Amino acid sequence: MVAGWTSPARRVNNQAYDWMLAQNAAQSWTPQSIVVAVDERTLSARGGMPNIRAIEAEALDEIAEAKPAAVALDIVIHDATRPADDARVEAALLRNRNVVLPCLPVIEGATKQWEDPLPRFRGELGHVDLSEGTDGVNREIPLQEVLGREPRWALPLRAFGLAHGQPIIESPGDVQIGDLIIPAPRLNGRSMYVRYLPSGIPTVSVIDLRDSHEKLRGKTVFFGVTALSAARDRLVNPFGQEVPGVEAHAQAFETIARGKFLESARDNTVLMVCGLIAIFAGLIFALRSGWQAYTLGAVLIAGAFWMPFRFFREGIVFPFFAPVAVAWLATMGAAVYQHFFVRRQLRRSESEKSRYQQAIHWAAHEMRTPLTAIQGSSEIMTRYELPEAKRGELTAMINSESKRLARMIQTFLDVERLADGQMELKREPFAAADLVATCVKRATPIAENKKSHIFLDNTVDGVITGDRELMEYALYNLLTNAVKYSPPESEVHVMAEFRAGEIRISVRDRGIGMDAKELKSIFKKFYRTKRAEASGEAGTGIGLSIVDQIVSHHGGRMEVASEPQRGSCFTMIIAASDNAAISPDGKTAEKTADRRG
Ligand code: ADP
Repeated sequence: MVAGWTSPARRVNNQAYDWMLAQNAAQSWTPQSIVVAVDERTLSARGGMPNIRAIEAEALDEIAEAKPAAVALDIVIHDATRPADDARVEAALLRNRNVVLPCLPVIEGATKQWEDPLPRFRGELGHVDLSEGTDGVNREIPLQEVLGREPRWALPLRAFGLAHGQPIIESPGDVQIGDLIIPAPRLNGRSMYVRYLPSGIPTVSVIDLRDSHEKLRGKTVFFGVTALSAARDRLVNPFGQEVPGVEAHAQAFETIARGKFLESARDNTVLMVCGLIAIFAGLIFALRSGWQAYTLGAVLIAGAFWMPFRFFREGIVFPFFAPVAVAWLATMGAAVYQHFFVRRQLRRSESEKSRYQQAIHWAAHEMRTPLTAIQGSSEIMTRYELPEAKRGELTAMINSESKRLARMIQTFLDVERLADGQMELKREPFAAADLVATCVKRATPIAENKKSHIFLDNTVDGVITGDRELMEYALYNLLTNAVKYSPPESEVHVMAEFRAGEIRISVRDRGIGMDAKELKSIFKKFYRTKRAEASGEAGTGIGLSIVDQIVSHHGGRMEVASEPQRGSCFTMIIAASDNAAISPDGKTAEKTADRRG
């Protein structure tokens, strides 16, 4: 809409206006004016421009004979070098009635003034200032022009008033002559669109005047120079035809006489219509989609094209560019937005789906081990008579494995909800040392199965705030991986330390290790190294991705160092919490802080 005020947009508006004007040209209108022309023929027959006063006097005499309704002169009638001719012109003027004489704005020094005919020439004054558009085409004329304090009506308007014997009455919004009201607000400079008649105005040459009295009778005569060589004021009309100034005045006169005026749409109306178009475009794509929305969008754009033509028929000149541009932009904007919105929705739901599938895989995989243990133990218990001690052992095993299963389901659900953003992380303080001890204890049987050993090299007295259950899961995972991806009878070292406000828990093994390229991918879901697959130990490749998620949900990060065949070191780094925090076993964190020194 803003672009509608730029000059390329104005050009488009003008072109549309010209086209519409041609489409809506009057079909059957009898002109009420006639142009009496000082044309090339007149000039060559009467000795050219030096004799213009004589020509004027001759023409005015003839016009007086013909008894027109009014005479409007668009010709200079004073020549200081030929006072004798002035007298002839003065006398000829006196023979006519309802005469309008031209006045022009001229620049004198810093001010613009009216250049009026000498007082000896009798007649009303009408200004002959024709405004041209920026493209040199005349579409409007100012019905009134004010220089200094002096307002002057336009020549054609004055002539119309005289021809109809009516005064010109003005109000802020319009100009009235008799019953005729011309909408020409003072704010707009009382500008009036000229509805040019494509057929032009009947014209009589001065030398043919003698035989043409009939043509002039009762009409309003516009007298001026039309000869190409002499007319200074030729302009272009909206149909692209070149017209002399005098004809342009006659055309304006016909516009007034026809009484069908064009008005510019108000800025507010344009604003409102453009706003409505934009809202419609938005609504179309908000409420409909696919071909329906596109069809409606196309209809909206077509409507924006059609609307200025509809308005024009009602006599309102609506800018063409703004509504069309708004319709295009708003429709395309809405369509593009909808497209990307839909795409985003789709992407989101797809990633949701795959994430869910991965989670299911993980759950199935992780649950198999405890289920196998429970199943096996219970089968042994029912099939065989077992000593009390062994029974007790198996019962305890079933109990602990089912608890593990329950915990795992809880972890699974928690991780799901964490990833979904549905769950707030539990925020409870717990001692890092407890976390490490619990996990080492839980992983020890797995290590022993491989005749390996887990060493707790160093522990720390810091407090972590977060979800202990999830953190245990993460560390346990690192421990089992370390055992899994190391040969039997190897050592796994766990080290917890406090550094720069962070607690670092490392798990180091001397196993198969990874190369730099593999290292980059291990936190991706489902990634397993070739090396691990060859060792026959690889699992689902989900564990580490969950570890990474858990740690980052706690505001921490993972560090991994590894070398093929030399082993790996996984470190989780989590911020230690405030001194005031109290660890579950009752030790105050303050004491911890002291120790940290
Ligand atoms: P999983 O162990 O079930 O395959 P993880 O996500 O825990 O899944 O591990 C992903 C991969 O990272 C493993 O398949 C393995 O290739 C590699 N990996 C993890 N931990 C170690 C380790 N301590 N040493 C060598 N490779 C490891």
